[in-house]
Amino acid sequence: MDTTLFRDLDPYSCGFCGKPISTERRRRHAKFCTSECRTARDRATWRKLNPRLHDLPRWQVGAANELRAAYFLMTRSFDVFRNMSHVGVVDLAAHSEKTGWLGVQVRTGSMMPSGKLTFPKQESSPGFDVLIVVCGDEISVFDSEENPLKGHPWKT
Ligand SMILES: [Zn+2]
Repeated sequence: MDTTLFRDLDPYSCGFCGKPISTERRRRHAKFCTSECRTARDRATWRKLNPRLHDLPRWQVGAANELRAAYFLMTRSFDVFRNMSHVGVVDLAAHSEKTGWLGVQVRTGSMMPSGKLTFPKQESSPGFDVLIVVCGDEISVFDSEENPLKGHPWKT
């Protein structure tokens, strides 16, 4: 039997560990017995939403996401070139007849429990034309001001 459903409905039991919530905390409409339980629940939710980030070292996730971004561009008729030095203003260069040459920055995003996509913000001088944020299987494309780019040739 899945008891998590009952925990959500029971105002007297912690939504994470199931232990009783103190009267004082219940008065403040707390759903967890301690702040540690709340944090643990938030972390568990985040891990569930972002499973791949925990299986690999951070640098390897970034490298894999560059390849995902390259695949995304290649399957939309771009020629894609990778920065061999792994440092610099862009991670990828992409070219198509429609767009010409584009500097592409790739970042690894995370999905928040609210459903909002978050990713590391750019430094003072962006130096790229397009930002691709890879979050698990989802790819989002932004312009250099980090405004979403929608429609062909970016449509996902
Ligand atoms: Zn608890």
